[in-house]
Amino acid sequence: MEGSSNQDADSGRQLACVRCSKVAKLQCPKCLGLKLPRANASFCSQECFKESWIMHKPLHSQLELQNNASGNGVHDQYLQGWMYCLRKGQARSTQLPYFAWTGPLRPYPISPRRLVPENIQRPEWASSGRPQQEMVSEWQTSVEIKSAEQIARLRHACKVARDVLDAAARAIKPGVTTDKIDEVVHDATISAGAYPSPLNYHFFPKSCCTSVNEVVCHGIPDSRQLEEGDIVNVDVTIYLNGCHADLNETYFVGKVDQASETLVRTTYECLEKAIAIVKPGVRYREVGEVISRHASLAGLSVVKSYCGHGIGELFHCAPNIPHYSHNKAVGMMKAGQTFTIEPMINSGVWRDRMWPDGWTSVTADGKRSAQFEHTLLVTETGVEVLTARVPSSPDVFPWLNNS
Ligand SMILES: [Zn+2]
Ligand SMILES: [Zn+2]
Ligand SMILES: [Zn+2]
Repeated sequence: MEGSSNQDADSGRQLACVRCSKVAKLQCPKCLGLKLPRANASFCSQECFKESWIMHKPLHSQLELQNNASGNGVHDQYLQGWMYCLRKGQARSTQLPYFAWTGPLRPYPISPRRLVPENIQRPEWASSGRPQQEMVSEWQTSVEIKSAEQIARLRHACKVARDVLDAAARAIKPGVTTDKIDEVVHDATISAGAYPSPLNYHFFPKSCCTSVNEVVCHGIPDSRQLEEGDIVNVDVTIYLNGCHADLNETYFVGKVDQASETLVRTTYECLEKAIAIVKPGVRYREVGEVISRHASLAGLSVVKSYCGHGIGELFHCAPNIPHYSHNKAVGMMKAGQTFTIEPMINSGVWRDRMWPDGWTSVTADGKRSAQFEHTLLVTETGVEVLTARVPSSPDVFPWLNNS
């Protein structure tokens, strides 16, 4: 382990610890000897180097591109530390993995870890990758009724998360990479003094999810440029004042075809209709009935593998809220509960498949999928949409224009 410059030689940027996102102060000596990318060899401490060894060591044998002298773009990217993501974020590769891709989209290399300033309060997984307390919490099985103090903190975090998502929406246009969207989300989040909750959650490598076209959810921001006619969902969660705020929207890249516009609009309406029934005494399982009815009227299908979730001091907890009909969710809504509703609606079949990166969920038939999400509070009389759009939110959905 060598102490050396924590700046990347080429970009001049400060490098982040590969494990914990703090400023890197040390470099793996083996990587330096092999002239491997410094961005992937950077650690804040001996401890992070030691804890990362099992994941880091295989990089020493990934020399194919390094030894390939051709100065093509992929090679230049590799020298900056860009690689394909594997094993849920616990491994990297210089090679596109083999997979029976379901549609036209492919993964692209992802950029090195982004820095999170020391003064920002981090969730437990920021360095370990594992949400240990969350997994064993009593709130996985019973639904917490939040105190006025907890609600005030969550309300504030949700307003900040809305501003972060709106910043991402303004950046979307043809030619922009999803990595650039991640940079916008990351920078807006840390500027607000918050931590981007997805970063290192179960080893997720980036600060938000970007799900393009046939990606259902959990797409990893990468070096692919958005193309005219794409749709892209950006899912933002921030951790501020001890609580998580979670929302997402699906955007149009330039002009899209009629089928995509109908898909996105119907998905937006599915969420609106679901929110409209939220109040004390309503059964969680009703949410799926409302969403499913509206989606099937438009000839669309509802994803079953991913559900809405309780949220607050934990990122994911009870209740679990399916979006499909005839689901078996137990319990009913009570004032003071906070949870998300986040339907994923497909143009074709409801079934999904997982890419080799362990995160990206795609439609089984390669047709497009859309999603919208809000964080909600059940009130005495109904619902408060904590992540609601605000007057300054960019005007990106034609159906919201009353004129
Ligand atoms: Zn570290
Ligand atoms: Zn989300
Ligand atoms: Zn969520």
